[in-house]
Amino acid sequence: MSSTPEFQHTLGKAAGFSGTSLHKGEKVTLKLHPAPVDHGIKFKRKDLQDEPTIDAKIDNLKMVERATTIGEGSVRVHTVEHVLAALFAMGVDNAIVEMDANEPPIGDGSAQPYVDVIKRAGVAAQEAPRKFFDVRESMHMEAKTGALLILLPDKTFRISCTQAGPNNRFTQFLSMEVTPAIFEREIAPARTFVYYEDVQSLMDKNLIKGGSLENAIVVRGDAVLSKEPLRFTDEFVRHKILDIIGDLALVGHRIHGHVVAVKPGHGANAELARAVAREQTRRDAISVPRTLPTGEGGFNTDEVMQILPHRYPFLMVDRIVGFEGETKCIGMKTVSINEPFFQGHFPGHPVMPGVMQVEAMAQVASILLFKLAKTSSRVGYFMSADEVKFRKPVFPGDTIFIHAELTKARGNRLAKAKCHCVVNDAVVSEGELMFTFLDR
Ligand SMILES: [Zn+2]
Repeated sequence: MSSTPEFQHTLGKAAGFSGTSLHKGEKVTLKLHPAPVDHGIKFKRKDLQDEPTIDAKIDNLKMVERATTIGEGSVRVHTVEHVLAALFAMGVDNAIVEMDANEPPIGDGSAQPYVDVIKRAGVAAQEAPRKFFDVRESMHMEAKTGALLILLPDKTFRISCTQAGPNNRFTQFLSMEVTPAIFEREIAPARTFVYYEDVQSLMDKNLIKGGSLENAIVVRGDAVLSKEPLRFTDEFVRHKILDIIGDLALVGHRIHGHVVAVKPGHGANAELARAVAREQTRRDAISVPRTLPTGEGGFNTDEVMQILPHRYPFLMVDRIVGFEGETKCIGMKTVSINEPFFQGHFPGHPVMPGVMQVEAMAQVASILLFKLAKTSSRVGYFMSADEVKFRKPVFPGDTIFIHAELTKARGNRLAKAKCHCVVNDAVVSEGELMFTFLDR
C-alpha cells in the first residue's frame, strides 16, 4: 500500500458500442457514463419506462447460472460479469452502464470490447479516497460443484487460479497481481468457453440465441472449436480469472487480498463476494464512535424534535450521532426499562418489539431525507419495508445505533433507505425502507 491515498476514479467522458445480446440474440447498445464520487457502478435500463437503475452490489444478486444476473424489484440485468471485470480492473470506481436491453452486447465473449470502450472514454481521478477491504483473516468458500475459493491477506489484489475441465482435462494454473496493465494484456482478451454437453440443451431450447463460435470457445471431448484460434494456450484459466474479478466487483470495495481459486464458478465467486460484503458491514457497524460528539455534526434531542413530529411514546431517536456525506446518518436510542412497550412485551420478559426498531429506522431515515430536501414544505411518508430481518433481541439497558443510508431517490417523489440497528457491535435488525414525499 502506498503512503499517498489512492483516489476514486470515473470515466473521462461517455463512450459506447453496439452488438448482439447472448441470450436473446438482439441488437443492444451499451454506453458508459461518468458518475460522481461514492456512486459505485450502476446499470441503467434505457429501454424501460422511467429508466430504472440497478446497483452492481452483491445484495442485488439474483442468479448465478452460466452468467451473473442482478436485479432490483422486477428489473433484471444479465451477464454483468465481463463489463464489471473490465471497469473494476481498469480502475473505474464510479460509472453508469446504460443499456437498451437486459444484457450487455456479448462482443467476442471476452472483456476486450469493454476495455476498448473504457480506453476511449478515458479514466479520470476524483477527489475522494478509494474504499478498500483489507483481508485480515483468511476466509474460504466451498461449493458442491467442487469449487474452492480462499481469500488470504495480501498488500495487493492477487488471483491464483486452477481450472479443470471434465475428467481433469484442460487443467490450467495461473497466478498474477491484478493491475490495469496486466488485466488488459493477460486477462481481458480471454474468451468465454463452454462444454458442448452444457450448451447443447440450451441451444435446443433456444436460450442462447446470440451464442456462436464468434463469441465463445466450445469444447467437445478433446476438440476445441472456435472461429479464431486460441489467444493463449491457457485461455480457459484466464477467463476464469476474468469471471472472478467481475463477480468480486459486486463487493463494492476494492480488495487487498489474495484469492486462491480451484475450479471456480459464478456461484462460489458470488458466495465469497457475499461473505466479504457481510464482513465489511460488520466492520462498518463496529466503527461507530463510543463517545458522542456535541455541537456540529450531529443533532441533539431538541434539534431532532424540531424535525420529527413524533412525540412520547413514539419518538424513537434520542439524537443523531453524525452524518456521512449527504446520504448516510447514524442515530441513537437508549432503551430504558421505562419504555411503555415493555409493560406488555412481555410481562416478566421485556424484549423490544421489532416493529419499534423499524420505526426507529424510519425516523432516522426521515431526518436524512429532511436534511437532503433542505425544505420543510414537504414531508416524507414511510410507505413500505422490504427485506426486514430481526437478528437479535434488544433488551432494556441496550443502546441502539441506528444506521440509515439513502440508496435511491427517484425523481423527487420516492426515496429508498437501507437501514440497520446495531447493539454491542452486532447487527440486531435491518431493512430497506421506501418513502414518498407529500406537500405539507
Ligand atoms: Zn465469463
